[in-house]
Amino acid sequence: MHEISDFRSDTVTRPTPEMYEAMRTAPLGDDVLGDEPTVKKLEKMVADMLGKEAAVYLPSGTQSNQVAIALHCNRGQELICEFLSHTYNNESGAIAFIAGAQVRPIHGKRGVMDPAEVEKMIRPVNLHQPRTTLITVENTSNAAGGAIVPLENILAIADIVKKNKPNIKYHLDGARLWNAHVATGIPLRQWCAPFDTVSVCLSKGLCSPVGSVLVGGRDDIERARYLRKQLGGGMRQSGILAACGIVSVTKMIDRLAEDHKKAHRLAEGVTALKGVDIDMSTVQTNIVNFGVPGREREFEGWRKRLQEERVLALHLNSRWRFVMHNDVDHDDVDRALKALRAILS
Ligand SMILES: *Cc1c(COP(=O)(O)O)cnc(C)c1O
Repeated sequence: MHEISDFRSDTVTRPTPEMYEAMRTAPLGDDVLGDEPTVKKLEKMVADMLGKEAAVYLPSGTQSNQVAIALHCNRGQELICEFLSHTYNNESGAIAFIAGAQVRPIHGKRGVMDPAEVEKMIRPVNLHQPRTTLITVENTSNAAGGAIVPLENILAIADIVKKNKPNIKYHLDGARLWNAHVATGIPLRQWCAPFDTVSVCLSKGLCSPVGSVLVGGRDDIERARYLRKQLGGGMRQSGILAACGIVSVTKMIDRLAEDHKKAHRLAEGVTALKGVDIDMSTVQTNIVNFGVPGREREFEGWRKRLQEERVLALHLNSRWRFVMHNDVDHDDVDRALKALRAILS
């Protein structure tokens, strides 16, 4: 059994033994000088897997999304996204700070936007209004508890984007696209085909210590490389990290199914607790998100009690979030349920 059951995020995973070995033996170069063989290998692999022409390796998902937004939006232009989006709420105001763009958020359902609403929110082109130049989707939706945005919804919005080509681009924040792929069986390329650019994280369920990849057309990725350098994301001998990324994308995807099973088990247990508000229909991947209405002021005390039982979890926006990953197992789920029962019975 683990010393600590850490459900705070799937980013807390440690590199696997195979990753340490890959780091030790990876051929290295200088990525800023353009000759990092291990980074180049990872970029080519991910571009192929996701069905795009090119890819660029970045230090974080935030930088990857923000580079994509800066590619597609100039100062004073506008993007449309769902109200819960990470790019809008959890990237420290970077849309305004880096691209200088503004956001027109849409209230969706479990992170899913209504295509008719998206169409309505596209600005007419005139002297007075900001230009709409980008629509972004997040899949899976982090704040909606790991819920999957269905492919039909993505395709319906893609049709609207097509009608507005070339003025409007389409970006996917696919930090956990791997989870949507494993949960549905829909191939990664099919998920990515409608989008101009896609950002994926290697540092979450796939266990790399850091790293994200942005994929898209050759010209976009060329410009993305320049933007990454401007943001200080040129990482020299980053092959030592990219080596872990290669293990992530070749060995760590299928095991996400285990995380989904653990999430389901924890959620079922939580459903039985007193006063809990949980929407089982959102428990589709590796996140369990629930509220205990009216008792939010006790949450911080509960967090400390859980910690005393060696269970770490976060409450965000008045809801609890437990995230499954490679370094929690079924015993950890049992420990969490036992601790929650002690608090909520
Ligand atoms: C984690 C995450 C990111 C990127 O986060 P970093 O910590 O910057 O790597 C982007 N989008 C979503 C939905 C995420 O969950």
